[in-house]
Amino acid sequence: MRFEATSTSSYFSRARQSRRGPEASKSLVILLGTYYFLGMATSLRLVPIDPVEANRLRARATVFDVADSFPGYPCRQCLQDAAVGDVLALVSYDPFTLDSPYHSASPIYLHKEDCGLPDTSAIPGQQLRRQLSVRAFDEHEMMLAGEVVNGIELEETAARLLAQDDVAFLHVHNASRGCWALRIELPGDI
Ligand SMILES: [Zn+2]
Repeated sequence: MRFEATSTSSYFSRARQSRRGPEASKSLVILLGTYYFLGMATSLRLVPIDPVEANRLRARATVFDVADSFPGYPCRQCLQDAAVGDVLALVSYDPFTLDSPYHSASPIYLHKEDCGLPDTSAIPGQQLRRQLSVRAFDEHEMMLAGEVVNGIELEETAARLLAQDDVAFLHVHNASRGCWALRIELPGDI
């Protein structure tokens, strides 16, 4: 089962068609390829699902899928796209903590077994290779802004939104299907 589209191919197409010449295009393709697999270093605070909550959802899961392609099955605990053959639980996760009008759950994948803590020092390739919906909330969990961006723009977009008055945190979702991906805060925020 797949329920996501990827957008990285469009970047590579644009890079190949760049007016800056073949060498510049080649460098851009290499750079994007590095991001695709290794992620992009960030000073922002990436907050994936809490492992305790992830295990609670796993224990209640009734729907499981076997990854039959890569990428396409993004685990929201380890923030990696599952390898072909991995088994994942498809669960409903509510990332909100307060009773605001925006309080809602969304579908997410989790590896069937506990997959540990991710590296949060870099925006994972899982985000960089997708089109994303970035939603900004205040401390009362009221939405103040929302933007759809390509994943490679997430770092800049998140930093800009978090710099705005009253924005306390961001929720990042896949733009196409709305699956929640992670929360982003400024460093030092709770
Ligand atoms: Zn995982």
